[in-house]
Amino acid sequence: MPKLLCITAHPDDEAGAFGGTLLLYHEREVETFVVCMTAGTAARNRGTANTDEELANLRRTEFAASCKMLGVTHGEVLDYPDSKLDRVDLYQAVGDIVLRIRQIRPQVMLTFGPDGGLTGHIDHAMAGTFATIAFEWAGRPDRYPEQLEHGLTPHRTQKLYYHTADFVLPDRQLVSPPTVTTRIEIGKERFAKKHMAFQQHTTQKPLFDRVRKSFSQRLEGTVEMFHLAATRDPREAKLESDLFEDVTEE
Ligand SMILES: [Zn+2]
Repeated sequence: MPKLLCITAHPDDEAGAFGGTLLLYHEREVETFVVCMTAGTAARNRGTANTDEELANLRRTEFAASCKMLGVTHGEVLDYPDSKLDRVDLYQAVGDIVLRIRQIRPQVMLTFGPDGGLTGHIDHAMAGTFATIAFEWAGRPDRYPEQLEHGLTPHRTQKLYYHTADFVLPDRQLVSPPTVTTRIEIGKERFAKKHMAFQQHTTQKPLFDRVRKSFSQRLEGTVEMFHLAATRDPREAKLESDLFEDVTEE
């Protein structure tokens, strides 16, 4: 089965930024994987949690429910500090993603660009930066050679995409988004399901109204846009409507 690996920063990114696309490719019998770098404990909205640990547990449970609704084959929340991904050890963070790439062996990866996605969040920018370096390094035997001592082998993912859009959010710090190369038409039903998946994050309920507005602002939210940032096989730019276009199964 073809495989798609999505690297995010916070529980709810998988639904808010990538939900329709994850759902669509699940329906096309692609195995989908989400690795979320933080448990989202810097959130202002904390539900019933009194401590960071309680909030982390709540958000991990919500993430699992959202992933289930989106048909994600395997979702994982790592333990990096929320809102501080720019302060973590780069070698460690990239290595954690390299390890998962070598284990999962996806053909396609999705993440945020260094702009930080539509919201410009620093964790989105860093998750995308780590994922980009990991995309390059996972295929090289001279990077993290200690991972290769027990049977794991290097893996070159064929395509790397950044989440992007053809508009910016007027109520945020302005970002300079990656060029749109790929439009994924998710349709009204998947849009509704994406929204339901987002609503599994009940600790973030105060955000629901704002998110619904920004989802539906453009094209009724039924198109998710990406930037093809790098490919294993060198090529010229072209416009696409399918992440697996030109992908070979191996
Ligand atoms: Zn986020």
